Amino acid sequence: MEHLKIDQIIEFVSMTDINTETLSLSSKVIGHVRECQTCSDTLKAYRLVYEELVRLGKEAEFSKIVKKEKALRELEK
Ligand SMILES: [Zn+2]
Repeated sequence: MEHLKIDQIIEFVSMTDINTETLSLSSKVIGHVRECQTCSDTLKAYRLVYEELVRLGKEAEFSKIVKKEKALRELEK
């Protein structure tokens, strides 16, 4: 089984409305995390960050933060 791409997780977490495009992403992400603990944990981690930013009214910072996080992940490889 192929894991979710980090971009898909990020898009799902920061998704603000449901339309045909996001709906297909949603069902893919939800279907996968139901079966995959690794992606489920990743999703949870990003959701926590996003929710915290929303609480602070700084959700616009999310893409900045995830870009940094992605760069760090690349370095670790
Ligand atoms: Zn997975």
